Amino acid sequence: MIGFYSFKFRHSDKLSQEIAAVTLSNKVPEHSTNLCCSLRSELFSGSNTGINFEKYDDIPVEATGQNCPQHIESFQDVDMGEIIMGNIALSRYTRPTPVQKYAIPIIKSKRDLMACAQTGSGKTAAFLLPVLSQIYTDGPGEALNAAKASGQENGKYGRRKQYPISLVLAPTRELALQIYDEARKFSYRSRVRPCVVYGGADIGQQIRDLERGCHLLVATPGRLVDMMERGKIGLDYCNYLVLDEADRMLDMGFEPQIRRIVEQDTMPPKGIRQTMMFSATFPKEIQILARDFLEDYIFLAVGRVGSTSENITQKVVWVEESDKRSFLLDLLSATGKDSLTLVFVETKKGADALEDFLYREGYACTSIHGDRSQRDREEALNQFRSGKCPILVATAVAARGLDISNVKHVINFDLPSDIEEYVHRIGRTGRVGNLGLATSFFNDKNGNITKDLLDILVEAKQEVPSWLESLAYEHQHKSSNRGRSKRFSGGFGARDYRQTAAGVNAGGFGGRGGGRSQAGHGGNRAFGGGGFSNFYTSDGYGGNYSHSQVDWWGN
Ligand code: AMP
Repeated sequence: MIGFYSFKFRHSDKLSQEIAAVTLSNKVPEHSTNLCCSLRSELFSGSNTGINFEKYDDIPVEATGQNCPQHIESFQDVDMGEIIMGNIALSRYTRPTPVQKYAIPIIKSKRDLMACAQTGSGKTAAFLLPVLSQIYTDGPGEALNAAKASGQENGKYGRRKQYPISLVLAPTRELALQIYDEARKFSYRSRVRPCVVYGGADIGQQIRDLERGCHLLVATPGRLVDMMERGKIGLDYCNYLVLDEADRMLDMGFEPQIRRIVEQDTMPPKGIRQTMMFSATFPKEIQILARDFLEDYIFLAVGRVGSTSENITQKVVWVEESDKRSFLLDLLSATGKDSLTLVFVETKKGADALEDFLYREGYACTSIHGDRSQRDREEALNQFRSGKCPILVATAVAARGLDISNVKHVINFDLPSDIEEYVHRIGRTGRVGNLGLATSFFNDKNGNITKDLLDILVEAKQEVPSWLESLAYEHQHKSSNRGRSKRFSGGFGARDYRQTAAGVNAGGFGGRGGGRSQAGHGGNRAFGGGGFSNFYTSDGYGGNYSHSQVDWWGN
């Protein structure tokens, strides 16, 4: 693997001494705690209180693939180093969520991963924690020399090309920003500097930010390709690749850009880099496509919270098109003015029209959809999150993957045409174990989703309207694919397709989130032991955002 082992010896003496001086004991220096108080409160002020994890231990988890590492029960079961542990504590995460219990040791063992877990299940931390921990342990390797050489070649600090060690790709700007915010939290008091690039925002400003140093890059594909073509980003030393919302990233729209980034440029090939994919759903076709990017991977299926712990109450009501607005008003007055309500509509025009209507009816509401500027979308999200505008009208694309923790009610004003999208949408409520409500307006237009919707409701032990049952029965008899298997069988968003392909590769690790604990899954001594671990700690000057300090690249 590229230069990881020799990092300590390549490193400049001055910096090594400086680090050794403050971090010989592998501890975050005391005085840094005071110096970075305001940054700390900025990063960690978002509260996780009220999150109900009790139900989470019941979520079933299936890990399949060759030699699957044992899962952990607590964050202490795996050696992630003091910076990560400190930031976990500051984030007030007391125990890992099911996806974290499995994904953390898998990633720490340098295995590729395809994980099927809902947004809201803690999947962002499931990859950020082990990836950052590995980066702290292993150091920048060759990327340091490359960045330095690039600076020298260009003769100017400002022209420097950045060589991130880790790349996280996300389909939307909002999701990219959210992952970036989490990355800032977990890289607090380290030398790792996360950056984010996404379309629709000032590229000059993003370039200037990159030039201050970039070790972990969160990006939407289009803007990343642009940055690569401008010579601002080199992926030559990108040893960790994460695809979030991977089902969407690999569908027709994004696939060529993903191939351009991952296969047709300078990124280390699979097997050399580590690749991780996360998604709420993983249709078989996407799993087959994803093999191109993965090497001997573990497939992780985490039960859907809404399905297995039944913490989302799902209601389906028959509402004719012409009655939708008045029905919506009834619902809104029943839920109460202050609870956050997310209303999904099919089109951008529909979103604007509904927002206007609600506004005229005296509701504090806002909207997000693809035609609104990036600034408007961010502002709308902030107003919604803060409760200033507790009703958000959204199109599915704009709302995908968003972490808005306390949504009480999701209303499908227009139902989507496929069930994956339905699962994504209702996953906006009942997040990380909280209770939620999802109401869907159904009428003649939604015939194509009938059977799948019925399956979901039955599986989640929800009340099924009798008209829906009869409709599904009619459809099943008409439909040509009546024999097809249930996509969400067993409460999972998908299952490892290799399990059905003649049982090849079946490692067979089943279990529940609350299974047997395995202590000390530190596993990676070969990479992190001895001198390298010095690098994981801070330089003691308080956070990675102050530009007065020297980072890995000498910035
Ligand atoms: P995600 O699924 O990554 O969108 O995460 C959903 C929310 O859960 C985020 O607000 C996280 O900060 C929070 N979260 C993630 N892991 C934990 C944990 N172990 N304990 C408490 N909250 C968590």
